[in-house]
Amino acid sequence: MRNLLVVLSGPSGVGKGTIAKKLVEKESDFALSISCTTRKARRGEVDGREYFFLSKESFLEKKENNGFLEYSEHFENYYGTPKDFVMQKLGEKDVILEIDVNGGLNVKKNFPEAVLIMIAPPSREEVKRRLIKRNTESLEKIELRLKRMDFELEKQSEYDYTVVNDDLNKTVDKIIEIIKKEKNR
Ligand code: 5GP
Repeated sequence: MRNLLVVLSGPSGVGKGTIAKKLVEKESDFALSISCTTRKARRGEVDGREYFFLSKESFLEKKENNGFLEYSEHFENYYGTPKDFVMQKLGEKDVILEIDVNGGLNVKKNFPEAVLIMIAPPSREEVKRRLIKRNTESLEKIELRLKRMDFELEKQSEYDYTVVNDDLNKTVDKIIEIIKKEKNR
C-alpha cells in the first residue's frame, strides 16, 4: 500500500500540535515531518524535534537550492517543509505535515495525491482561551493570530476534510479513520 502525505492545518491554538503528536503515538505507521524555521526556539523546544532552527541565511540558501516542498513567511519568520526529509520518511511511513493553509495548498499543487485535513476550533473564544493559557505571547500577538485564524478557516472549502476539534481523542480517531480510508482507495 502506498504511503500517504497528510497535511494537517488549522489556526494557531486549535490544538493541531497535540493532535499530531497523539497520531504518531497511536499509529506506528505515521511519522511527523519536521519543518525548518528561522524563528527562535521557544522554551522547551529542541532543534531537530519541534523544528530545524535555521539562520535566515541558511534558510534562503536551502530555498535557492529548491530544498523546500513549500515555504512561507509568518510573523516575520520563514517556515518551510524540507523536501529531502519528507521524501526519506515517505519511503518508510505515512507522513504528517503540520503546516499552515497556504503551505498545505502549495503542497497539493506539487502532490495532488496529498490529503489535506483542516482542524477547526469549536469556537473563536476557545482558541483565544488556549492561546492565553499557553502563555508564550503578548495579547497583541494573540489578536494577530486570531485575525489569521479567520483567514485560514475561510480556506476550508479547498481542503479535502474538516474535523472540528471538540474532543482530542475523538478528533485523533477521526483523522486515523480518514487516513485509513484514503489509503484503501
Ligand atoms: P509556530 O511559530 O507557532 O510554531 O508556527 C507558526 C505557524 O507556522 C503555524 O501556523 C504553523 O502551522 C506554521 N508552520 C509551521 N511549519 C511550517 C512549514 O513548514 N510551512 C508552512 N508554510 N507553515 C508552517
